[in-house]
Amino acid sequence: MKIEQNLVIPGKLDYVRGDKPDVPCILCSIRDNDERVVRLEVGRTELMVISLNLFPYNPGHLLIFPLRHITDLRELSSDEVLETHRLLQVWMDILESSYGPRGFNIGYNMGVTSGASIEHLHCHIVPRHRNEIGVLEMVSGGTRVIVEDPNVTLDKLRKAWRTAENES
Ligand SMILES: [Zn+2]
Repeated sequence: MKIEQNLVIPGKLDYVRGDKPDVPCILCSIRDNDERVVRLEVGRTELMVISLNLFPYNPGHLLIFPLRHITDLRELSSDEVLETHRLLQVWMDILESSYGPRGFNIGYNMGVTSGASIEHLHCHIVPRHRNEIGVLEMVSGGTRVIVEDPNVTLDKLRKAWRTAENES
């Protein structure tokens, strides 16, 4: 596989994430500012947190999840439903100006047969690009290729979020 100049391999970075943190619920840990996962949060509101996905499909692959540890979409309150979609709209704007994607995948996996690896309900938002590297190439050789240092992603998105929230 050809690796472009700007691609980096996570195992070779001085890397914030490392292995999956050994915590009972990674999203509750982010909510509670656990220092093992504090570098994943990009923003929060009164009801929701926005974080980087620990193993992103693409740079800017985010999770939007309620502060409450719930596991089913139907447990969301009306306020949380509204807030989720408000945040999706805000983050589509942010990701569009940060990465210029051609599209998005947005959605939920619920239950073990869906591929969900985190029980705590969360909505994925994944920016998609034309001619992007496929998921099979990404995981070939057991090494996932990330096209941006997650520290860079984090700083960029935190800054954009602060700006967006100040303007709203
Ligand atoms: Zn949780």
